Amino acid sequence: MRHFAIVGSGPAGFYTAEALAKAYGDSARIDIIDKLPVPYGLIRFGVAPDHQSIKKVSGRYEKVAESENVRFVGNVAVGDAVSVEELRGLYDAVVMATGAPHDRKLGIPGEELAGVVGSAAFVGWYNGHPDFADLDPPLDAGHAVVIGAGNVALDVARILSKTRVEFEGSDIVGHALERLMGSSIETITILARRGPHQIAMTPKELGELGRLEEAAPDVDAADLPPAETDEALEDRGLAKSVGLLRQFAAEPQEKRKTVVFDFFARPLRIEGDGKAERVVVEETRVEGGKCVGTGKTYDVPSGLVVSCIGYSSPHIPGVPYDHAKGRYENDEGRIDEGFFAVGWARRGPTGTIGTNRPDGYDVASQIEEAMAVGSDGGKAGGEGLDSLLCERDVAATSFTDWRKIEAAEEAAARAGSPREKIVDPAEMLRILGH
Ligand code: NAP
Repeated sequence: MRHFAIVGSGPAGFYTAEALAKAYGDSARIDIIDKLPVPYGLIRFGVAPDHQSIKKVSGRYEKVAESENVRFVGNVAVGDAVSVEELRGLYDAVVMATGAPHDRKLGIPGEELAGVVGSAAFVGWYNGHPDFADLDPPLDAGHAVVIGAGNVALDVARILSKTRVEFEGSDIVGHALERLMGSSIETITILARRGPHQIAMTPKELGELGRLEEAAPDVDAADLPPAETDEALEDRGLAKSVGLLRQFAAEPQEKRKTVVFDFFARPLRIEGDGKAERVVVEETRVEGGKCVGTGKTYDVPSGLVVSCIGYSSPHIPGVPYDHAKGRYENDEGRIDEGFFAVGWARRGPTGTIGTNRPDGYDVASQIEEAMAVGSDGGKAGGEGLDSLLCERDVAATSFTDWRKIEAAEEAAARAGSPREKIVDPAEMLRILGH
């Protein structure tokens, strides 16, 4: 028998479990450990609440969790309730699939002012992540600035723009929905430090901004490079996205709210009297793909600043960290003997949910190469973990427990919404009678 522990129950963790479960069948036991009592990581807390079709991938993970040789072990913080060293002693292989839940810092003056938040916090707030339930973002200033030209920036701008009707069918948490409906933000400026040809926005997500009920995108045609240069874009998706920007510039719409695309705009500092009031921006130009400051500055008013510039993995004792890349040190997924990283913990925060599948399968095949199917490592595995947790009085949750929490969330849903997420882990445990 072989015993494997996967730390993190997001997409990368589940794809790895799926691959290991298929490869080893009944000759392995796989524990997917999560610090929260509930599974799915990024799917539950990162994917936008109005993108329910993307969240449906959890149906596939559910099947994995219900396999005979797989267990979900929630409410167990690795690095706290149990150490990585202990896990490596108990299991034949440990796979870090923690994702990258922390915000990268902007590193500019004023970042610490009230009203400046990272996207992990802001997205976590409207997605019901327990760590960010109390965020209380200022939505009363009229202006918001979103820093970054990726899909997360688009998610944030869209969530700040939608009407109550447009949130129907979503699972945005009630506390965020009510705050957003009382918001007085009418201008959302997306600051992109480079130009339209350097965006990391995909056409589906960008296209959505052009179809909002009360908000219209605003693109300055002067920022767009000559149309014929789009043909040289090797990435067809990017060419399509730039095409959408051209359409936004050519067909301006008049609506109550505006999402301004401010290209060639690098944030220099955030200013205000005890709270964010404006972002001081430097105009840039792009030279050889790099952004170069021109020295010309201007102010963008903003009571709320959301930086959407990428994420980093958590520091956990016993896991070597690559500080420059904000992820675990690894060589093609291998950290050490019997110790691996997958997904964003391996590659950094890039790619779609599907990108994690080959990642997980690759690490599973590295494990299979090192430990033949049918071999025995003599490790204690899940039983050993259970005794440790019992000694330490840690109330782990199972997939059956998650089913009970899920049923309570579904029962509490607003009309038309799939669920009202329970935000407080203590309440989840109360439902389970722990
Ligand atoms: P991202 O795609 O890497 O975009 C980050 C953006 O931040 C880039 O435009 C980058 O500009 C900018 N940036 C970085 N540092 C900056 C700084 N110091 N000042 C100003 N701007 C800065 O990251 P993301 O938007 O967080 O998305 C993460 C991953 O999740 C991506 O692969 C994304 O596609 C995916 N995702 C997908 C969906 C979806 O499919 N619906 C939704 C959300 C996220 P430079 O290019 O100039 O560095």
